[in-house]
Amino acid sequence: MVPINELVRGFKLYQDEYEKKVIDVLRSGWYVLGKEVENFEKEFADALGENVYAAGVDNGLDAIMLGLMAAGIKEGDEVIVQANGYIATMLGVMQCGATPIFVEPDEYYQLDVNNIEKAMTDKTKAVLVTHLYGQATRMEPIVDFCNKHNLMLFEDCAQSHFADYKGTNTGLFGVAGFYSFYPTKNLGGFGDGGGVASKDEELIKKVKTLRNYGSDRRYHNIEVGFNARLDELQAGILRVKLSHMEELLANRAHIANRYIAEINNPLVRLPETAEGCRHTWYQFVVRVDNQDGFIEFLKGKDVGTDIAWKVPPYLQPCMEYLGYKRGDFPITENICDTIVNLPMMDYMDDAEITKVIEAVNAYKG
Ligand SMILES: *Cc1c(COP(=O)(O)O)cnc(C)c1O
Repeated sequence: MVPINELVRGFKLYQDEYEKKVIDVLRSGWYVLGKEVENFEKEFADALGENVYAAGVDNGLDAIMLGLMAAGIKEGDEVIVQANGYIATMLGVMQCGATPIFVEPDEYYQLDVNNIEKAMTDKTKAVLVTHLYGQATRMEPIVDFCNKHNLMLFEDCAQSHFADYKGTNTGLFGVAGFYSFYPTKNLGGFGDGGGVASKDEELIKKVKTLRNYGSDRRYHNIEVGFNARLDELQAGILRVKLSHMEELLANRAHIANRYIAEINNPLVRLPETAEGCRHTWYQFVVRVDNQDGFIEFLKGKDVGTDIAWKVPPYLQPCMEYLGYKRGDFPITENICDTIVNLPMMDYMDDAEITKVIEAVNAYKG
C-alpha cells in the first residue's frame, strides 16, 4: 500500500536530531517561551527574507486570528477569501468578529484578482490570499489591486512555506503572513504550532502580546489577550526541521516532477504551475470527472488518495448564517467534485512513486 501520507517517515529522516533536541529541551528545565522559541522565530524569519520578524504561536488558526486582530481587523469588517480555501482561514476571520466574503479561484486554485472588485462593499477592509496546495499565488496584480483600493493584504501560508512568487517568499507581500506547523505541513512539528511573519516589527510585537494574556511585560496586561503560545519542545523540533527544509522540499519536488513527467492518462488532469510561482507540493492534486470511481480504482491498486476537501467552506453548517447556497460558486463546486490528492509526503522511494504512476495510468474511467 502506498499511503496518501505517513508522518513517521518525516520523523525517521532526522530521527537522531529530533530525539537529541527533545531530550535537550526536557533536561533544560525551561518549557514555555524560552530560547528555543526565540531562536526558532529568528531562524524562521531569516529564512523567509531580510528584515522579517516572526512570532511563534500555538497553531495556524490562532496565527490567522491574532495576526488579523493585531492589524486591526474587527467586528463589522469584511475580508475577501477564495471560496475553495480552507475552513480554518475563514474561522480565523470569523474569530475576529469579521465576515469572510468569498470569491471564485483561478485555474491554479488560487485567489483570482478579477473577482475581488464585484465582491467588495464599503465594509471590505482586507484581502486574505491562501497559497493553496503549496503553490504561490500570482501576487503582483493582487498587491496592485489592494494598493489601489486601500485594502490590507494578508496571506495564509499554512500550505506554502518557502513557496515564492518571483523570488519573494509568500507571506511577505502584504501586512502579514500566517503559518501552520501542524504535522502534515511542509514545515510541520510533532504537535500543534503556528506563526505570524511580517516586515512590521510592531505588528509582530502585538502578536506576541496577544498570544501571552495580552501582556507586554510580566504582570502588565495591555490587551484582553489569549494563551496562544508555542512551546519549547515544538519550537526545538521545528528548528531541526527548518534546517533540512531544502532537502525536504526537494524530496517533494522529485515526487511531483515524476508524476508530471510520467502520468499520461487523458482522463486525469495534472496540476499546472503559473509562471513565476514556485510550487512546494504540499499536496499533489489531480482532477477527474469520476472522483469516486477513480478513488475506488486506486484503492484496488493499493494507492491511497484523499479529497481536500469535498464540501466548500461556505456550505458548512457553521456558515449557514452567511446565507450562501449550493450553486453560488460553480467553479469552486466543480473543483470539490473533481479533485483527488495523490500520495505526497516528506519521503517516497522511486518504487512507490512508480506504483502510483502505473496505477493512475491504468485507470480507464
Ligand atoms: C492547516 C491550515 C490552517 C490551520 O492550521 P492549524 O495549525 O491546523 O490550525 C489554516 N489554513 C490553511 C490553508 C491550512 O492548510
